[in-house]
Amino acid sequence: MKILERCARCGKCLPACPSFQATLRESFSPRGRVALAREGLSASRTFSHCLLCGACEAVCPNELPLLEIFAQARSKTPNLLRPLYPALLKGLQLVSPRSLPGKGETILFLGCGGGLLYSRELAHFLRLFEALVGEISLLEGICCGLPYLAAGDQENFLKGARRIVALLEGKKTLLTLCASCLYTFRRFYPAFLKEGGLASRFEDALAYLLRRGADLFLPQRVFFQVPCHLRHLETEAWWREQKGLVFHEGCCGQAGMFGFRYPEEASLIAKPLKKAIFSSGASILTSSCTSCLLYLKKTFPRLDVCHVVSFLAKRPPGKNAP
Ligand code: SF4
Ligand code: SF4
Repeated sequence: MKILERCARCGKCLPACPSFQATLRESFSPRGRVALAREGLSASRTFSHCLLCGACEAVCPNELPLLEIFAQARSKTPNLLRPLYPALLKGLQLVSPRSLPGKGETILFLGCGGGLLYSRELAHFLRLFEALVGEISLLEGICCGLPYLAAGDQENFLKGARRIVALLEGKKTLLTLCASCLYTFRRFYPAFLKEGGLASRFEDALAYLLRRGADLFLPQRVFFQVPCHLRHLETEAWWREQKGLVFHEGCCGQAGMFGFRYPEEASLIAKPLKKAIFSSGASILTSSCTSCLLYLKKTFPRLDVCHVVSFLAKRPPGKNAP
């Protein structure tokens, strides 16, 4: 309650919140959600309409830990689909070949949808990594846990997170291609597991290669859907340096299962993004989050949608790093 009282009701979080922007309803804003939590109304369904994107937290002048507040509240929200999540994620993991970290010191954590959504780009990344840096082992078919947290299933989130921490113990460099997985390791693992070591060892795989001799080579104007979670990571600066990408920051509304569970709300949230894609005239759409790529692929089946890593190549000699 003491933390909740720190909310000054200033409203600075309102313009940042995609669910408020789409509905213009106070109860669907971060400030409104804090007020409901203050009244002890944590079971309100507005908490399950929060995307856990982190935009509110990044702008709150009073530094309220809004994501923890909202993630805790949603575990009290009735969710008939919650029992289905473990089966759904298990299904995803079964279709991806399972692998455990090899002996290498560098691990690429793929998350649960990467092997399905961008297997071609992944093969390209692995080849380039081996040429520029050396051996890398793949940890595939294991979820970072964000979908569980989003479903209000803290028990399965913690179970999976502890397993990942144990599997990656002693590994020196941990990389991921998914901005949401990276954000989960950085923001949610320290908060819920009190585990900071893993968070500090995880890096954005693309930024890592850009610093080690790779560059982006774009065939034409490429539309880059900036994942909400990427905006709150320090590696965003590396991305912004990449010329030729048309950046757009509108939320896609997919947020893991949110887009399937609340299609109408998700479509309202994604409206500005859709408009920006049409008006950009770009025929190639790219992103760096598994969930955003899922949205782009299902919404624009006629356009070329790929993970931005597919444009990475070895930098020619003499050209400096960005
Ligand atoms: S920005 Fe922070 S203090 Fe201001 S209304 Fe939002 S949650 Fe409250
Ligand atoms: S996490 Fe995102 S969707 Fe949820 S209240 Fe904050 S800004 Fe809104």
